[in-house]
Amino acid sequence: MLENNLAFAQKLDGADPLHGMRNQFHIPRHQGHDEIYLCGNSLGLQPKRTADYVDELLKDWQQMGVKGHFAAKHSWLPYHEFLTEASAQLVGALPQEVICMNSLTVNLHLLMVSFYRPSKERYKILIEDHAFPSDHYAVESQLRFHGLDPKEALVLAKPRAGEDCLRQEDLVELIKREGKQLALVLLPGVQYYTGEVLDMAAISEAGHAVGATVGFDLAHAVGNIVLNLHDWNVDFAAWCSYKYLNSGPGSVAGAFVHEKHLGQTLPRFHGWWGQNKSIRFQMGPEFDPIPTAEAWQLSNPPILSLAAVRASLDTFMAAGGMHPLRKKSLELTGYLRWLLEQELGDAIHVLTPYEPRRHGAQLSLTVKLHGQSAKQVQQKLEDQGVTCDFREPNVMRAAPAPLYNSFEDVWRFVQILKKTAQG
Ligand SMILES: *Cc1c(COP(=O)(O)O)cnc(C)c1O
Repeated sequence: MLENNLAFAQKLDGADPLHGMRNQFHIPRHQGHDEIYLCGNSLGLQPKRTADYVDELLKDWQQMGVKGHFAAKHSWLPYHEFLTEASAQLVGALPQEVICMNSLTVNLHLLMVSFYRPSKERYKILIEDHAFPSDHYAVESQLRFHGLDPKEALVLAKPRAGEDCLRQEDLVELIKREGKQLALVLLPGVQYYTGEVLDMAAISEAGHAVGATVGFDLAHAVGNIVLNLHDWNVDFAAWCSYKYLNSGPGSVAGAFVHEKHLGQTLPRFHGWWGQNKSIRFQMGPEFDPIPTAEAWQLSNPPILSLAAVRASLDTFMAAGGMHPLRKKSLELTGYLRWLLEQELGDAIHVLTPYEPRRHGAQLSLTVKLHGQSAKQVQQKLEDQGVTCDFREPNVMRAAPAPLYNSFEDVWRFVQILKKTAQG
């Protein structure tokens, strides 16, 4: 039984085997106390090991110059390989299926070069209505690049009238209806606005059943929910590393290409970092692609940023990976929802689905603000040490991250929100 008091929240923290992970992060401070930071869905906090990992590289560079490519403690030439194992674990992939490179929107484009190959008969792309704008722009520009009109070739999956979230059966129905015209299904693992988790296995199956290719944007899914991309038979996926992955603003992103596509003659844009490593420095004109997802790499990567990703991945591994984190996450978010209902009742409406398998860490809510603007409420929350995402007219996204948020954070947040929303 849950209880709505501070002592109970602290008791939950005391019993939480992951509570100590919080000490591995820098928590921003507000007037001498830890902030209540519920914004890890937007920018995750900095792990304490990040500075050490980046500093090691800076020192090696100071002392070795170019020789650091080979002689650095973690040599730069294969540096991205130090990230492979943990990245593969986080997304449920084989090591050869993942690569850390570029940024998210860039990776979506590079993957669409390979996986969106429209023909006269099969040319449509399905995304969700109100997709994250960058995804929408990327997909529309791909359509135009192929001489297609988004009005005709872009299919938008919408919630039913009066509903906030997509229904699985409607998505499958839409995929079936578009059938032979559907070239690509590109959906989020977790929808950024509503926090809804989509059934990626079922969507992958439905897309393949009509002959389409299926990719996922995992920006809000990676480091948040358990993923099994390989077993779900997803064709490709991409994610950024600065939200739940805590790798710092704009840090290097990730990509997944299913094993069945590796070593195939998919069209692809090439650069020297995709070249067979044993002959890369012969600098010859023939391209012999690495037979893994590394073949999609173009440039030698930003090592300083990869160091931050490595620090983040090591922190996830120190926590035991996604399974224990997801278990705590469901408890944290469940407690948050329960407290909101207790304290704010009809003054809030939760957009995020209720069933555990249909939500991640984030709850999206609309809040009755009693005549105040969202901006005013956001400011008041910040003045009380709460960081969360609050947008006009009155939508809030609050995401307790199981790596560093506590049950006490959640309890204090609801107390402050209640007081503040009432004006
Ligand atoms: C955060 C996010 C992005 C951001 O794209 P960048 O290329 O990293 O700037 C794109 N798509 C989705 C769905 C996101 O949540």
